[in-house]
Amino acid sequence: METVEIKKWIRDIPDFPEKGVIFRDITPLLKNPEVFKYSLNKIVELIKDWDFDCIVSPESRGFIFATPLAYIMDKEFVPIRKPGKLPYKTYSISYELEYGQTSLEMHADAIEKGEKVIVVDDVLATGGTTKAIKELIERAGGETVGVVCLAELTYLNPRENLKDLEIASLIRY
Ligand code: IMP
Repeated sequence: METVEIKKWIRDIPDFPEKGVIFRDITPLLKNPEVFKYSLNKIVELIKDWDFDCIVSPESRGFIFATPLAYIMDKEFVPIRKPGKLPYKTYSISYELEYGQTSLEMHADAIEKGEKVIVVDDVLATGGTTKAIKELIERAGGETVGVVCLAELTYLNPRENLKDLEIASLIRY
């Protein structure tokens, strides 16, 4: 596998979705099959020694990385969705985002008691989303092992929010 400079394939969009936020746009990376495949393979390498059964991930960009990882690594996939999208009984949580407030839901029967779970997302910013998902996993009786992402925004200090988790990121800003 030849080394790819992943940051070259992520576009910085200043003041999106609001003033003062630099949005890291991964769509150029997704449009290049070699770079996308390289990124996925590298993420697999980062977490190959983690002990887990299940991958949970928030819509929508998290799914882009989480589902191929579940396929490649032979793991379960559990979607975390915005309110009102999941058809069965759910656990729900509200939390603060880098820009605004939001809620997420997970099917109440998605995770078995004692199951080891990881969170996969495209970007780890404040860590608020992962912290909220960890709470949902715990309500279901699961154990959150760690979080893996394509890009970590270290200037937003996500690790402060996620002190008891393994954290792996392919690139850091
Ligand atoms: P956090 O909860 O602050 O860690 O934000 C992470 C969530 O917001 C993830 O689900 C990301 O998809 C999304 N997000 C935050 N900032 C960015 C960004 O710069 N680019 C892409 N997604 C972002």
